[in-house]
Amino acid sequence: MQRHNPDGFDTLAIHAGQEPDPLTGAVIPPIYQVSTYKQDGVGGLRSGYEYSRTANPTRRALEECLVALEGGTQALAFASGMAAEDALLRTACAPGDHVLIPHDAYGGTYRLIDKVLQPWGLSYQPVPVSDPAAVREALASRPARLVWAETPTNPLLSIADISVLAQIAHDSGALLVVDNTFASPYLQQPLALGADVVVHSTTKYLGGHSDVLGGALVIADAGLGDRLAFHQNATGAVAGPFDSWLTLRGIKTLGVRMDRHCGSAARVADMLVSHPAVAEVLYPGLATHPGHEVAVKQMHGFGGIVSFRVRGGEAEAVAICGRTRLFTLGESLGGVESLIEHPGRMTHASVSGSALEVPGDLVRLSVGLETCDDLLEDLRSALG
Ligand SMILES: *Cc1c(COP(=O)(O)O)cnc(C)c1O
Repeated sequence: MQRHNPDGFDTLAIHAGQEPDPLTGAVIPPIYQVSTYKQDGVGGLRSGYEYSRTANPTRRALEECLVALEGGTQALAFASGMAAEDALLRTACAPGDHVLIPHDAYGGTYRLIDKVLQPWGLSYQPVPVSDPAAVREALASRPARLVWAETPTNPLLSIADISVLAQIAHDSGALLVVDNTFASPYLQQPLALGADVVVHSTTKYLGGHSDVLGGALVIADAGLGDRLAFHQNATGAVAGPFDSWLTLRGIKTLGVRMDRHCGSAARVADMLVSHPAVAEVLYPGLATHPGHEVAVKQMHGFGGIVSFRVRGGEAEAVAICGRTRLFTLGESLGGVESLIEHPGRMTHASVSGSALEVPGDLVRLSVGLETCDDLLEDLRSALG
């Protein structure tokens, strides 16, 4: 299914790639927990399946749904977001190539590029991708194979203008990759804005229930899609059938969940703005956020993550993380349950001491789907 599908987003989330099972009429795609497929004579494949590393019907259902939601030519489901990123970087780039990454990239992305792919031969430069002039300047001084963007970023919630970045990247012959994990395709569709590849940690909003790990790539260009499919089959970090099934189940409610995440996060942000213990609130929905106008232009809502800096410094930020009752102290985000964390010591510990270090007084919230008044009360009492 291609970009201009007449069905609405929620219809696609529930039905794309998920026709009732032809054999039984089961309305949900079965979990094809299988490694290999009977051939009717050598090479006589039924529906093209030969071995589940290459293709599996449950994984295929998830991939078809993702293509419909992001609007590309091909999607590939991986065992984790990091596996998807690794496959993409080692397919789109070769040793000796250069890439630009956000100066506030997700810590795991930075670790993969700095600690694994740099020794392999990839060089990189962190740039503020929310500043198009900085990206243009970096590309002018050294051409890059690809520009990696995240918007909103994890955990600082900065916003990059996807269509402007696509123009700049393409003018210099680079690909634009957008990690769309924070927004999800419900709020933002980077391929329609000119990006070449969308990356997801489906572990987060797409899965939505903190019960499965997964990653995905959605690719605009069919040729690059084929190269990535080849690489995925050759290296093997595929999503398993049950994980694919759980992710598909999560996706069915993505729209309704995101609406509630956005509504509750906006209320949480407003409460924090007026709280005396809070020095600064980072949420793209706030009119004072430097990326607000771009977010209004390219997103259909501002997401469920709110970060804030506390007046009491790092010690107080850490203490607040230990004082909530409903916000569970833990890494990850995007599930139905609210989470709180200290990025400097938890999710982003791997960037400490680097150009990507995050402030010690920063707290990140993943605002879940609990009764919002309860969440506000929990935060007020934790802030003291
Ligand atoms: C979690 C996350 C990833 C990594 O995904 P995993 O599923 O944990 O491997 C990549 N990008 C962003 C923005 C993330 O939040």
